[in-house]
Amino acid sequence: MKLTFLGTRGYIDSYNSRHRRHTSTMVAYRDKKVMIDCGEDWLKKLGKISPNAVVITHPHPDHAFGLKAGSPCPVYAIQQAWDKIKSFPIESRNRRILAIRGAEKIAGITFEAFSVVHSIRAPAVGYRIQAGGAAIFYVPDVVRIRGRSEAFRGIDVYIGDGATISRPILRRDKRSNQLIGHTTIREQLIWCRKEGVSRMVITHCGSAIVKGNEDRINEGLRQWAEEHGVTAEIAYDGMELTLE
Ligand SMILES: [Zn+2]
Ligand SMILES: [Zn+2]
Repeated sequence: MKLTFLGTRGYIDSYNSRHRRHTSTMVAYRDKKVMIDCGEDWLKKLGKISPNAVVITHPHPDHAFGLKAGSPCPVYAIQQAWDKIKSFPIESRNRRILAIRGAEKIAGITFEAFSVVHSIRAPAVGYRIQAGGAAIFYVPDVVRIRGRSEAFRGIDVYIGDGATISRPILRRDKRSNQLIGHTTIREQLIWCRKEGVSRMVITHCGSAIVKGNEDRINEGLRQWAEEHGVTAEIAYDGMELTLE
């Protein structure tokens, strides 16, 4: 399985040369490729990228609004996500519905959606992704993963939310009384330690990373992660990762 981090920027105004485009990752296996998320920055770029399929984590603008002009390939999302983007001009034959915890083979790559806490209006999932002998869990926006132990079981890499390093971005939804937003990188490293996952790659970078001194942040994270028996690195636009 080969991963290419097409974009690694969160839903923020600032950007730099390492984090220019909205978070999206290409998963390639054999001669097929699946693009995870297609935010505003990718609008009208799908033709050139030409993935075999697009898989959406949740219908926020930085993850799904690049589909506003339609899609040349099948798009996969949970029903609750489709409900929010049903007006997009995507042909009905290209609208594919994924079930929570229903593993589905997409272009030869297995995707299993796990429900995550992140937003009330934009119901979100993370994906356990398997191809060949490699497995990862991918969730760019998250407060909490439902069924985390099963999601993380035997994975090579956890790819998580870089919106904030050590101060959670949380808000309590009045109606559901649920905390929504983004947990910290530090908390996600603790998840990795608890589940025996030895490697985290950070994407969906927030202002703390994009406006900060990334070398210093990386160094601090690396040290902190090491103490937890995990390696951590911040992904950047164009970064590639091959897993076997
Ligand atoms: Zn986002
Ligand atoms: Zn979001």
